[in-house]
Amino acid sequence: MTIYHSVTDLIGHTPVIQLHKLDTGVCELFLKLENQNPGGSIKDRVALSMITEAEKSGRLKPGGTLIEATAGNTGLGLALIAAQKGYSLILVVPDKMSREKIFHLRALGAQVVLTRSDVGKGHPAYYQDYALRLSKSIPDALYIDQFNNDANPLAHASTTAPELFDQLGGQVDAVVVGVGSGGTLGGLQAWFRQHSPATEFVLADPAGSILADRVETGRYGNPGAWLVEGIGEDFIPPLAHIEQVRTAFRIGDGEAFATARELLKVEGILAGSSTGTLLAAALRYCRAQTTPKRVVTFACDSGNKYLSKMFNDDWMRQQGLLSRPAVGDLSDFIA
Ligand code: PMP
Repeated sequence: MTIYHSVTDLIGHTPVIQLHKLDTGVCELFLKLENQNPGGSIKDRVALSMITEAEKSGRLKPGGTLIEATAGNTGLGLALIAAQKGYSLILVVPDKMSREKIFHLRALGAQVVLTRSDVGKGHPAYYQDYALRLSKSIPDALYIDQFNNDANPLAHASTTAPELFDQLGGQVDAVVVGVGSGGTLGGLQAWFRQHSPATEFVLADPAGSILADRVETGRYGNPGAWLVEGIGEDFIPPLAHIEQVRTAFRIGDGEAFATARELLKVEGILAGSSTGTLLAAALRYCRAQTTPKRVVTFACDSGNKYLSKMFNDDWMRQQGLLSRPAVGDLSDFIA
């Protein structure tokens, strides 16, 4: 067994499990367990890549300050690595984010600056504009800007893609992905275009996001709201080639949460809400095939932070996503 010397060495090289208990039709379905990264998500890879590239380019000096606008998994990954490498990290976070996320970031040593959630792009309090302004006011501070940072897709082109291709013995017919920043899709597309151009990319999109509309009609509909976290957008992220994707599935919150809960019950894997969306889309894709295919998707983050949300029957009922029986023993339904 290998002895590791830094938590950053534990990033990547995640295992792949074949799902045998769910109905995958004529296909073999594999899940790459990105929830096993030390910060709990696929974004650890990206955080490491963006910091390493900034070091290499000389834009980040020893002891320097990093700034990003996020309370999500990117923030957790950045906080983990910044602490290990001795950088200061300031995260500008909209004030609707859960206390748990903010406490977690602070516990990792990040400085959290809260700003308004109720304003849009162009407003001075909008979290991304605020982060950019802050980075200009602090000498030598670096704005990470994952939505426009090439080191984001690079993390997936240089690690995620070759790992999974190797793990699947060089035969991958379809990859099912969700899009937040577009780094995962963009990076995988770049690698597969060179090494396995026949591999198909399938988009798993939350109902309400405009990305599936773009795939199906070439136009954008009006964005709606969804509860799944980390994927779906109301704009087209520049890092991914959405226009090259031919197949998309729109997955509602109810189906995504039910699928993530099923994954835990049936296969024993505790993963987050976006995994529910990806897996639901992968299962729909698999069941629609008439010839056997090898299909892979991701457990993007761990399920721990959703225990009081999608894994909680009471919360699910409040969202109208789970009904309580009208008669009989109701004790199972008391939170
Ligand atoms: N799932 C989760 C839980 C995430 O936090 C993210 C990142 N926003 C994604 C999926 C999507 O990844 P990407 O940013 O590479 O599109």
